[in-house]
Amino acid sequence: MTIPFTYPAEPHRRRHGPAGYADYESFRPWLRDEFAFRCVFCLTRETWGPFRGQYAIDHFVPAVIEPSQTTDYANLLYSCISCNGVKGARRVPDPLTVLLDGSVRVEADGVLRAETNDAAQLIAALDLNDPRRVEYRALWISVVSLAERFDAELLRRLLGYPADLPDLSTLKPPDNTRPEGLVEAHFARRERGELPETY
Ligand SMILES: [Zn+2]
Repeated sequence: MTIPFTYPAEPHRRRHGPAGYADYESFRPWLRDEFAFRCVFCLTRETWGPFRGQYAIDHFVPAVIEPSQTTDYANLLYSCISCNGVKGARRVPDPLTVLLDGSVRVEADGVLRAETNDAAQLIAALDLNDPRRVEYRALWISVVSLAERFDAELLRRLLGYPADLPDLSTLKPPDNTRPEGLVEAHFARRERGELPETY
């Protein structure tokens, strides 16, 4: 059974390295691509909600603590507005190394079970087992399970990539420390026919 909330198997290694933008909002298309169009904390996907204004650019080290990292790509995360709001201006364990498949088990009833202390801390800090979130997760797990059994086209729509993949090769950041990452962008992979239908 496909669990739509399975965390990544490995710690995240940044694919892109745009630099030099004066405002952090300019990093948005890079971050969407970097984090596969879903919230790094709760894995809610862009395609599951209304269209605009649902995702924030989170400063991992909050801007009030380290203003110099406000436009440092390595400090920026793609987050739903709910997780971003709960986190607020706090330091939390790094989701890119802590929220991993194996460290966090996703139960069919929607509850997240932490297998490490860091994961437990982060789940608590972000309130990821809040009853509303557990119910939301359980709902999507059930819907995906039904689609998997009965409706392959619906499954593709539920677990497919958004239609508006950003073409990062057309962007002109003042600098890019990882230009080699452009060929791995989702848009480029789709152009080459290499992007899977679901993820
Ligand atoms: Zn979230």
